[in-house]
Amino acid sequence: MLRLQNLEKRYRTGDLALKGVDLEVPDGQIMALIGPSGAGKSTLIRCTNRLVEPTGGKVWLNDMELTGLGAGALRRARRSMGMIFQEYALVERLSVMENVLSGRLGYVGFWRSYFRRFPQSDIDEAFRLLGRVGLDHMVDKRADELSGGQRQRVGICRALAQNPELLLVDEPTASLDPKTSRQIMRLICELCKERKLSAIVNIHDVMLAQMFAERIVGLKLGEIVYDGPPDGLTAEVLTEIYGEEDWEATIRKVDDEDGEAEESLAESLHDDHRAVVLDRNLIIGN
Ligand code: ADP
Repeated sequence: MLRLQNLEKRYRTGDLALKGVDLEVPDGQIMALIGPSGAGKSTLIRCTNRLVEPTGGKVWLNDMELTGLGAGALRRARRSMGMIFQEYALVERLSVMENVLSGRLGYVGFWRSYFRRFPQSDIDEAFRLLGRVGLDHMVDKRADELSGGQRQRVGICRALAQNPELLLVDEPTASLDPKTSRQIMRLICELCKERKLSAIVNIHDVMLAQMFAERIVGLKLGEIVYDGPPDGLTAEVLTEIYGEEDWEATIRKVDDEDGEAEESLAESLHDDHRAVVLDRNLIIGN
């Protein structure tokens, strides 16, 4: 269980990005974080693992207070929190396999990591993960030879190689086309279910959030203004989060497909409709 207590972040510039956020994410839950650009979504994700240092409040992972840890203990604690980034954050000149194995750096000693000598069990697990995401034929390719979707699969494998309890996912699809975005979100959710991981997914695409997350948290100006199920995102709620928009098309489309399998909903979306939604997200999103 992840618990944020009265979490606050004020940047040096004076911007108050998080205004005392309280949030609990139970084990195994996939939670989407939505909200307009500047709402504090990235800050919340990065304060959770202290990539950004909170200026107030506490972060608990199970019974460990992350905000109270010194540097060494924090490094060890971060193994439990895999991170997936919008721009993949791969080492471009390294191979797919080496990038995945870099997820193990928190576990292996300095010299082993310096010479990139990883235990056979780590290599076996990296092969398994790459097989699971359909990249086992690409282990020796350099990261800079891959497509965006393939890079994100490598990023997912690297995060999972850490053997985390929690995934922090920051705009995983923002650099991908709509079809690849759905595939990547589906893959992240499937892997979370298979491994019983919880996840916080910062995602600007409301429709993707509704399709894949079981809980949605809406942030606005550093405060939670919605916390509930995907089907509670009414036009009124979306207007509260994002401001004035015509949300009916988005909501109607999701309602129409209610009861259908996720796959068929994803595949049934008409490209034109997606384009409209994407355009809207470009306007309101990041
Ligand atoms: P989101 O991810 O929802 O777009 P962010 O967390 O990036 O929002 O930003 C929240 C607020 O914090 C914004 O007002 C933004 O300008 C500010 N902010 C984010 N990062 C920094 C930073 N490094 N320095 C100063 N202000 C920042």
